Formats: sequence, structure tokens, C-alpha cells
Amino acid sequence: MDKKGIKYKWHGNEAINMAAHVIGELYGMNDLTIEKWIYYTDLDFLSICASPRKKTLLHEYIDFIYFTMYEYTLDKHFPMEVINTFTDLLDFYKIDYSILGKFDFVGMTDDELNPVEFEEAEEYARKLFDFFTEVLSPVVIDDIFTVLFSNKLFLFEFNSQLRELIINLKVNDSPEYLKKDGVIKRCKYIPQWLKRGVFMRDKGRCQICGTDLTKILNLDNSENYDHIIPLENGGNNDPTNFQLTCEHCNKSKGDRSMEFNSLSNRYWDMG
Ligand SMILES: [Zn+2]
Repeated sequence: MDKKGIKYKWHGNEAINMAAHVIGELYGMNDLTIEKWIYYTDLDFLSICASPRKKTLLHEYIDFIYFTMYEYTLDKHFPMEVINTFTDLLDFYKIDYSILGKFDFVGMTDDELNPVEFEEAEEYARKLFDFFTEVLSPVVIDDIFTVLFSNKLFLFEFNSQLRELIINLKVNDSPEYLKKDGVIKRCKYIPQWLKRGVFMRDKGRCQICGTDLTKILNLDNSENYDHIIPLENGGNNDPTNFQLTCEHCNKSKGDRSMEFNSLSNRYWDMG
């Protein structure tokens, strides 16, 4: 592999790299915690997390961070970083972007270009970024989401920060979504796609006591889909706030309990 290849062929890790970046932001790396994000975007987050939808509130957060980061890179005039990243990603996902015309300097750095070439790079980077946004970004955002959705500690923190906003909401301002001050209404039903996703992520085990719910080991156990942060305590119905539990743990968990286990399912220890 040549020098350029080693430097730039990291597309396969884009989702993991970006997931790490989103975790950093959630914990306050650049002042883009949930509170700040909602403040900057003016997003109607309550309507999104009032009922489960496939494009979750976490998708919205990732989307914002992702594009803020690359727009910043463009604004600061580092076009080659944008070009090298997005051409890599478009190639990786086998998307044809020849419609954007020819650009001869892929793989180079900003410093290696003369002023005319640099101007060409700036123009191409902008076109590429717009094309990527339109054609590929939902796929990449979903890949980043997939990495983060398996990180229960992250999800707990994400929903804990949302909780800080929810507990201050007044029912008179949003009667369609709230049951009372600071409490979101229970969603009417949990869709099948969400149950399947949570069951697979949690590998068929109660996330509080670890009991097997696949019915392979025990036919009597039935599964429950439990709000990690209870609605009564500022939780919400976004898919990121659900976990798999057994009947017993579900019933014995208090209405307002914030008790949280990050149960890991070790691959070599499933039995
Ligand atoms: Zn249990």
C-alpha cells in the first residue's frame, strides 16, 4: 500500500471514529451537550421523543454533530480533508459521483496544491459535500447510530441529559405530549421493529438480572420492553431509552428508579 493509501483509507472506520467523536461531544468536549444542541438548533425534540420512530433523536444529534464538524472544516479552508474523506466514503459505498466532474488531486494535502489548484479544491469540496449530504449521509448517520446504539452507558447519559430538559416542561405548554408537568405520555404501543432491534442488541437477556429470554433455555420467561429512564422520572419514548427486561425485574423496578446496569453479553460466555 502506498503512502496515500495508508494515510486516507480509513473509510471502514468512519462509523467508529465518528461514534467516538459523538461520545466526546455528549460529555462536553466542544460545548455540544444535549442542552446546548437543543438550544442551538431550536429543535422540537419533544415531538420526536414522544413516540418511537426509526429516525431517532440520536440520529438527529449525530446528524448535527457530523455536519457541524465538516462545515467547520470547509469554512476553515481545509478542502482536501473534506475531499479525501468523502471520496473515500463514496468509493466505499460504491456511489458514482462522476457527475461532479474530474478532480486530479485526490489524496493530496492542502499544502501540496498551488493557488489555482487550491481554488479548484475548494470548489470541488463544496460540491462533493453537497452531493454527499443528499445521497449518502442517511446511510452513514445510520451506521454511526448502529455503533452507538450498542453502547448502553452512552444511551443512559444521552437520556439522562434529555431528562434534565423534560423535567422542566409544563403540561399546559404541550398537552398533546405530556401527561403532567415533566412527564411524557406513554406511547400507545411499541412497534415490532423496535422490539426486534432491542431484543437483538440485548441478545435476548434481561438487562437487569441477566436471565435468558430467548426461550431456548427457559420457556417460562417472557420479555418486557422497559424504559431505561422511567417516564415518571423524566424518561421518554425514543428508541434509545428502551431495554429488554424479564417480567420479574420489570415489575419490581420502581416507577421512578434510575438504577441502571450496563450488562455486557460476552460472546464466549452466552450459555
Ligand atoms: Zn430480570
